Amino acid sequence: MANILVIGSINMDVVNHVLKHPLPGETIKSLKTDYNPGGKGANQAAAAALAGAQVIFIGAVGNDPFASQLLSAIRGIGVQSDFVFNKDGNSGLASITVDASGENHIILTEGANGLLTVNDIKDSLELFDSADIVMLQNEINWETTRYVMEESHRRGVSVYFNPAPAVQIPMDIFHFIDVLILNESEAETLTGIAVSNNIQAIQASAKLRDEGVGKVVLTLGNKGSLFTDSNDTVTHVPAFDVRAADTTAAGDTFIGVLAATTGSKDISEETLRFASAAAAIKVTRKGALASIPNKLEIEEFLRAASSHK
Ligand code: ADP
Repeated sequence: MANILVIGSINMDVVNHVLKHPLPGETIKSLKTDYNPGGKGANQAAAAALAGAQVIFIGAVGNDPFASQLLSAIRGIGVQSDFVFNKDGNSGLASITVDASGENHIILTEGANGLLTVNDIKDSLELFDSADIVMLQNEINWETTRYVMEESHRRGVSVYFNPAPAVQIPMDIFHFIDVLILNESEAETLTGIAVSNNIQAIQASAKLRDEGVGKVVLTLGNKGSLFTDSNDTVTHVPAFDVRAADTTAAGDTFIGVLAATTGSKDISEETLRFASAAAAIKVTRKGALASIPNKLEIEEFLRAASSHK
């Protein structure tokens, strides 16, 4: 079983469903309010744990009433949360309004996620030695992320990095990254290459590997995923044909499940296919963390898919 350390964000998504968005100064009624635990770090940790990995989450919550709900959400799916730090102030919060046409307005409060420090990681270093993989995203302090990458590299732990949300990152950290997993728009931000077909995906991946990244997995939405490594092997795995209800956390599910099934082995067509099946199930369901499938559901989906061939 893979041992995975996720260092990242955890948020409460407060989702208000409205008929139409309010105008400035206008007060309107919400038709329904949902509280959905999420955040890229927590989603990826949950996906990996549900796929059968041993997962420890390092992150931060505030001292607001959401903190305990966020912790029970990840504990409830078997993610170890003893190294989640308590900070003064808000937990990470996404205030989301969705109108009848499905258009979103989102206000993100970074909250405690932005307060996870290098010193917090120094207090957790004992965890690195038993980890196969350290997983990171772009929703915490860059200084902390950078320190985790350097320390993991020094200790020989495989670094999986998902540069989401996309921002420019210093090129000198690329050689600390063993596996870079990113979607088309993130690939464009990092390489300047617009990715809309497999040839461009191969070019963007090659550029990232030339700059020092070990392996690249480019996710291409309903066009699947493309994996390249230093041997210049290209593996394209198509997406499963499903009716999409909500693509939130598709990438997070894919990444968490890929890390869980790969562990200390090499990424293969089989592990990519397993991750694609998990992400396909997720997109058929609304919501984030609470809609991520478990290992049995993924296996069942794959059995059904092969019997329909
Ligand atoms: P992100 O959520 O980070 O933008 P993608 O949209 O590339 O990432 O999706 C990640 C993976 O989820 C894809 O590689 C694919 O396997 C799966 N996926 C995404 N959208 C769909 C879809 N509409 N149908 C089936 N699978 C999908």
